[in-house]
Amino acid sequence: MSWDDFAKHAKEAANWGADYHKTIRDRPVRAQTAQGDIAKQLADSPPEDGTNLTAIMADFERIVMPGITHWQHPRFFAYFNSNAAPASVLAEFLVSIIAPQCMLWQTSPAATEMETRMMDWLRQGLGLPGTYQGVIQDSASSATLAAVLTMRERVLEFRGNIEGLHGQPQLRIYCSDQVHSSIDRAIWVAGIGQDNLVKVRTTGDLRHMDPIDLEAAIAEDRQAGRIPAGVIAATGATGMGACDDLESVAAVAEEHGLYSHLDAAWAGTAMICPEFRALWTGADRFDSIVFNPHKWLGAQFDCAAHFLRDPDQLRQTLAIRPEYLKTHGAEDVIDYSEWSIPLGRRFRALKLWFLMRHYGMEGLRTRIRNHVTWSQALCDRLRAEDDFEIVTEPILSLWTFKAKNASDEQTQALVDKINDDGRIYLTQTIVDGRKVIRFQAGQFDCEERDFDTAFETITEIARRP
Ligand SMILES: *Cc1c(COP(=O)(O)O)cnc(C)c1O
Repeated sequence: MSWDDFAKHAKEAANWGADYHKTIRDRPVRAQTAQGDIAKQLADSPPEDGTNLTAIMADFERIVMPGITHWQHPRFFAYFNSNAAPASVLAEFLVSIIAPQCMLWQTSPAATEMETRMMDWLRQGLGLPGTYQGVIQDSASSATLAAVLTMRERVLEFRGNIEGLHGQPQLRIYCSDQVHSSIDRAIWVAGIGQDNLVKVRTTGDLRHMDPIDLEAAIAEDRQAGRIPAGVIAATGATGMGACDDLESVAAVAEEHGLYSHLDAAWAGTAMICPEFRALWTGADRFDSIVFNPHKWLGAQFDCAAHFLRDPDQLRQTLAIRPEYLKTHGAEDVIDYSEWSIPLGRRFRALKLWFLMRHYGMEGLRTRIRNHVTWSQALCDRLRAEDDFEIVTEPILSLWTFKAKNASDEQTQALVDKINDDGRIYLTQTIVDGRKVIRFQAGQFDCEERDFDTAFETITEIARRP
């Protein structure tokens, strides 16, 4: 393809993108295809001869689009949103054209220097102290794995990487029973083992880790000769938004010398609004904090912001410097590949620069505030209906509900019927052993009318005979 042809097709793709977004409300949110529908339209083997882009684009529309669940749909109220604000999409387009590999400072100084500055903009936006430094990871899962590896190596005095884990003391890591599955997986991958992840009981409306149970678990482990290595807290866990009492968790971590990590993958974005920061009072006492700008903030996937109080502990855990990765003559630069598990790194800071400059922090705050206000208003509307009950109260824009007296099977059937209808998209979760329906709002372009549609869809489908 010539670059003139590239320009022609890129303009077509840009127009396609604008039309897609302008008419997206006409599409069902969740893909309505059956299993195998897409696969059977794809050729069994790769073609020997090339095809022109016009034909490929037509096949994209015909074959691919029906099998897409529209994550950028304003009525996507499932999981957590994975946003792609148009300004950040443009930045990603430019990055995919330049396609730099940003593992070292010298492999693109602009990427490293912008990453340092953008992480500092985010730090200021969240109200964290200047003692934190940041790195962009591909996902919250990777940030958590990096933190767990740091917990392991720090407590083993960096012997684990060299000697392996065989014959080392039994390490223990603590978290609540509400944490995301990425915590469990980090424990598996780090070789610590599921049995050594101690899940502390949660209490209260915010379902926080019981600090007395946490203390007791640590004491019992010490008594038995096991080594407490770290604690992982959550602000806005995935199920119903559980928030740990960070002051009490940090106090325990400090008292026992544990490395502390905070998973605020979703709710972290809301901390750009000072009025929501009460949910994470004490965050500034944690060694490591992760939140995903690709969720609520609007940076295109993927972009996980990872803040560290002492990046040297992470660097000591992950850095490895063979001759071919040395930057001679510039020894004091940051090589961010030493702060993350993969060596290769995309230029992710550019989309943060476009995003924060174009909307401004106040523009981003307004969106978050609207989502929270509209979501809580919908919760109140549903609460006022005789045939619905609110199971967990809103934490930011996340709450759970069910039809009164519905069995777990009936609740699941309602979720499925709503998603087959296509106007909105919701998911289910378990709260206190009961199946409930989960509602959360955070799509970048959603409007108040989308919440009216949600109310109409939920009540209408639930009342259908
Ligand atoms: C989404 C989410 C994660 C996982 O994020 P990835 O970036 O997909 O790895 C972890 N923890 C919480 C609380 C989340 O909401």
